Amino acid sequence: MSELPIRDELRGVEPYGAPQLDVPVRLNVNENPFPPSERLVADAARAVADAVRNLNRYPDREATTLRERLAAYLHNEAGVALDTGQVWAANGSNEVMLQILQAFGGPGRTALSFAPTYSMYPEYARDTSTRWVTAPRDEATFGIDPDLAAKAVAEHQPTVTFIASPNNPTGTAVPLDLVSSLHEATDGVVVVDEAYAEFRRDGVPSALGLLATHPRLIVTRTMSKAFAFAGARLGYVAASRQIIDVLRVVRLPYHLSSVTQAVAVVALEHAAELQARVAQLRDERDALAAWLRDAGLTTAESDANFVLFGVFEDRHAVWQALLDHGVLIRETGPDGWLRVSVGTPEETTAFKVALVDVLKEQQ
Ligand code: PMP
Repeated sequence: MSELPIRDELRGVEPYGAPQLDVPVRLNVNENPFPPSERLVADAARAVADAVRNLNRYPDREATTLRERLAAYLHNEAGVALDTGQVWAANGSNEVMLQILQAFGGPGRTALSFAPTYSMYPEYARDTSTRWVTAPRDEATFGIDPDLAAKAVAEHQPTVTFIASPNNPTGTAVPLDLVSSLHEATDGVVVVDEAYAEFRRDGVPSALGLLATHPRLIVTRTMSKAFAFAGARLGYVAASRQIIDVLRVVRLPYHLSSVTQAVAVVALEHAAELQARVAQLRDERDALAAWLRDAGLTTAESDANFVLFGVFEDRHAVWQALLDHGVLIRETGPDGWLRVSVGTPEETTAFKVALVDVLKEQQ
C-alpha cells in the first residue's frame, strides 16, 4: 500500500466498525431487536416488486414522496409542522452527516463536538478534510456545560457543531436551552443528531421545535433505530429550506435507490405499530438500568435504546467474558464503561444471567 498515492491521513488506517460476530445474543450496535412484522414484510415485498419493474429508470432524484411522508411523520411524532422542502433523506444518517460536512466543512474549517460522543463524527471530518476538535462533557452526568461550550466555540470558531442528543455512547439528552445558547454563540451550523430521539423519556423535547426560530439548526434522524430498519439505510434531516438546498448541491446524483425509497415509505405507513415497540423498548431500558444499579453498578441516565454502565477496572475482561457466554456488547465510552443495547426480553435475560456469572467469576 505504501507506494500508492493515498492521502497522508488515510495511510495505515483500518476500516472502522464494531465487530460483526455470529453469537447468540448481539447487543452491541444499538439495533432494534424486533424484526419488521409480517404485514410490513408483505407490504414492502409488493412495493419492492413495483420498484423493480421500473429499475430501468433512475430513481426520483428528489425523493419527493418519501420526504413528504417523513415530514408528516415528524409532525405526528414531535408536533412540528415542516414543508417537504425542509426535509432531506440519504442512505443512513451517516450519509446525511457526510453531506453536512461536504457542504459546511472542508479544508481550513473546523467541526466541534462534545466527547465522549459518536465515534463516526471524526471519520466524516477526516474524509471531508475538516479539522476535528472536541470539548469534554461533564465527567459525572455526561451533560454539556453551556459556558464551556460557548468557550469552545469562541476558541475554535467551528462552522459545524455536532451535538448527539440522546448521545451515543452515554444515552444523555441535552436540554433545548443548551442548543439555543450554542446556536447563539456560533455563526456556524448546529447539528443535533437525534438518531435515538424516539426513545427519549416523557417530557424530554425534540430540537425540531427550535427549527422555526433557529435558522442555522439542523436536526438529523434515522429509521435505523426506532423503525427497526437499520438494514434499509435511511437517514434524514430537518432544517431550513436554504440548508436543504445546499445539501442537494453536494449529494451524488440519484443517491437514494428506488428500492430504498419504496421500502421506507412502507415502513412509515406502519409507524404506529413500530412506535408501540419503541414504547416497550423504553420500558425495558428503564428496567435494565434499574437492574444494573441494583447489581451495584453505575449507569448513565439514558434516553436511548442502550445503557452505559460500569465502572470496571478491566472492562475488556468483562466484555470478553460476556462474549465467552455468547453475549456481545460494546467496549466503548470512557475508561471502565461498557455499553449494552436493549434487546428482546429473552436477550436481556441472557445478558443479565451472563453478567451475574461474569461478575462472580471475576471476584
Ligand atoms: N448517530 C448516532 C448517534 C448513532 O449512534 C448512529 C448509529 N449507531 C448514527 C448516527 C448512524 O445511524 P444510521 O447511519 O444507521 O442512520
